[in-house]
Amino acid sequence: MMSSDGGSTVMIEKEFPKTEKKKTRFDVIIIGAGPAGYTAGIYCSRARHDTLILSGILPGGQLVNTTEVENYPGFENGIMGPDLMITMRKQTERMGTTIIDDEVIDVDFRHKPFKILTSSEEYECRAVIIATGATPRKLGLAGEQTFGGKGVSYCATCDGPFFRNQEIVVVGGGDSAIEEATFLTKFASKVHLVHRKEQLRASKVMQERAFSNQKIQFHWNSAVTDIIGEQKVQTAVLSDIKSGQKTNLPVGGIFVAIGHEPNTKIFVNSIELDENGYIKLKDHTKTNIPGVFAAGDVHDHRYRQAITAAGFGCMAAIDVDKYLTENKS
Ligand code: NDP
Repeated sequence: MMSSDGGSTVMIEKEFPKTEKKKTRFDVIIIGAGPAGYTAGIYCSRARHDTLILSGILPGGQLVNTTEVENYPGFENGIMGPDLMITMRKQTERMGTTIIDDEVIDVDFRHKPFKILTSSEEYECRAVIIATGATPRKLGLAGEQTFGGKGVSYCATCDGPFFRNQEIVVVGGGDSAIEEATFLTKFASKVHLVHRKEQLRASKVMQERAFSNQKIQFHWNSAVTDIIGEQKVQTAVLSDIKSGQKTNLPVGGIFVAIGHEPNTKIFVNSIELDENGYIKLKDHTKTNIPGVFAAGDVHDHRYRQAITAAGFGCMAAIDVDKYLTENKS
């Protein structure tokens, strides 16, 4: 018995015919293997569609660069980001989804079947879910790599609670930086907002809220130019862009909030994107090409959470099921 919300009492394993030749034709191909892609895989396979995930060469999305995840429901004591993604992958494979760790280099959505090209293979399918996510912009400092998950973060909602009663830095001057700095004052004893100009790009209302917050100290015309620590972040080195003068700020964390890049380069000529490169959607998960859907951070620049990405993956898969039922060829 299967229920619409995913509960089941009997597991029916999906069986595909075994052939010698490598299988390249699927009902659905999902591009990307973060929470959106895996959830879409689970739902597509449970709807009995022959489903392939092309995961890229570093599967798991942004959560593989995270340490502890406390805000994904179902894990009472939290879970490490990489463990969560391995668990999602195993669950998806158990439902019957084929997962191949290969990177998509081109797509052809002009005719059906759609064609998806990797460096080693050409695949065909009747429907596509794009779940390639977005990448936080980096400062380009060696310390970002060294202290990733050890004080350097790209998501205040995810990691803010780990910095209770500590001083922290937020870098950036847009809406994200101001929103994150304001949010982080719930936990931090002080937030140092470091911006490379002397005025913010953020909306006026958000600026006013930040200026009136006693816990936020602004460092204008400044950049973080080095990150120092032993096991975790201990010092942010600030450089005054005009004078070059350096200041060492003792902090426990550095939140980089200088924007995201949606991973849409390979779709520029095939799918309608907005002015920032995010996929434009209508009617929830539909792109401008019938049969091509999108889920997660690749279109969502507002919520950007693992749980919302998973939710969008579920929605896209339900829409794909409806599309494939109505379009048999
Ligand atoms: P933005 O591109 O708007 O802002 C990025 C900020 O980071 C800018 O202040 C920019 O500086 C700075 N920056 C960029 N690169 C560097 C760098 N290498 N070193 C230091 N600083 C750098 O990105 P956001 O993520 O803030 O916002 C993206 C979109 O999402 C916007 O449209 C925004 O309005 C929207 N948004 C809306 C929210 C809301 O309404 N609640 C919340 C969050 C985002 P500079 O100003 O000098 O270019």
